[in-house]
Amino acid sequence: MGMVAVWLTPALEPKQIFPMAPVVVTRPGIEPADFLFRPVVIEASNTELTDTLQISGVIQSSLYNALNESGVGVLPPSARHQLAWSLADIFEYKVDMSRDLRQGDKFHLLIERLQKPNGAIIVSKVLGARLALSNASNPLEAIHFDTPGSSTGQYYDASGMSLRAAFLRAPVAFRRISSIFGARKHPIFGEWRNHTGTDYAAPMGTPVRAIGDGVVIFAGTKGGYGNMIDIRHRNGMVSRYGHMRNFATGMRPGTRVAMGSTIGYVGMTGWATGPHLHFEIRVGGVAHDPKLALQSRSGEPIPANERVLFQKMRNQTLASLNQSRLASVTE
Ligand SMILES: [Zn+2]
Repeated sequence: MGMVAVWLTPALEPKQIFPMAPVVVTRPGIEPADFLFRPVVIEASNTELTDTLQISGVIQSSLYNALNESGVGVLPPSARHQLAWSLADIFEYKVDMSRDLRQGDKFHLLIERLQKPNGAIIVSKVLGARLALSNASNPLEAIHFDTPGSSTGQYYDASGMSLRAAFLRAPVAFRRISSIFGARKHPIFGEWRNHTGTDYAAPMGTPVRAIGDGVVIFAGTKGGYGNMIDIRHRNGMVSRYGHMRNFATGMRPGTRVAMGSTIGYVGMTGWATGPHLHFEIRVGGVAHDPKLALQSRSGEPIPANERVLFQKMRNQTLASLNQSRLASVTE
């Protein structure tokens, strides 16, 4: 499967653990022992330790499973789960992780791993990522770069354009539905004929988010759609969300919503046989394929005075992401 992990800086030393001789406690004349203690002394430390590590893999069943396998031995399960969400967040303007992934898709991640004083290991930062979708000609790349004055940092493609765009690719966060969707299959719902939208299976009550800034033009009940919201965006495109259990407070025609804000909650109102979100992109009153309609244009470029620094960072990050080629020879 090509699951490899490469350390690029000296690997973390596990906290020193000194085993001691077992202590046997018995009452006189009674066998076997009543208690057996196995004391250990764990070296305490107040310092946090970090290292850089590259993880790559091929998706067989789901992104989570692939990351779960490639991170074995280098990250605890919670950090591996978190990493799948982080990857989805990084590319959330480009890829709908719950639908666009296929068997054979490849990912490479460059991460900063941190060991806390208590020994817990987390991923403190994703420094770079490459996602090679089997049905796309070029791999997607993300380079983490901190511009002065921004504490969080942003992700840019190799040409220095921000990955942040005007629209999210999915109306439900991947972390909310990753437990349901595999990479290859998604449930088929009993729906009305001439179905023109995209369905997202999600538990009842899962937050539904606006895919972009806009104004609510409809919030109410509409036939088979059940509880439905329409949002008009600046470019005239309308995003439609149906079958919702209920709306977030204040949703009425004229309400302004921001990209990513919660507008309602997944339900099964209208013609739906199970809880899911029905999502449509409409242009001039006609439903369009969201994948094409939401194909994001390039975001903002790196500020001119940061370009040289960014290029250095990019070259280093991309070179590190390529380390896996060396490692995979030993498989
Ligand atoms: Zn639908």
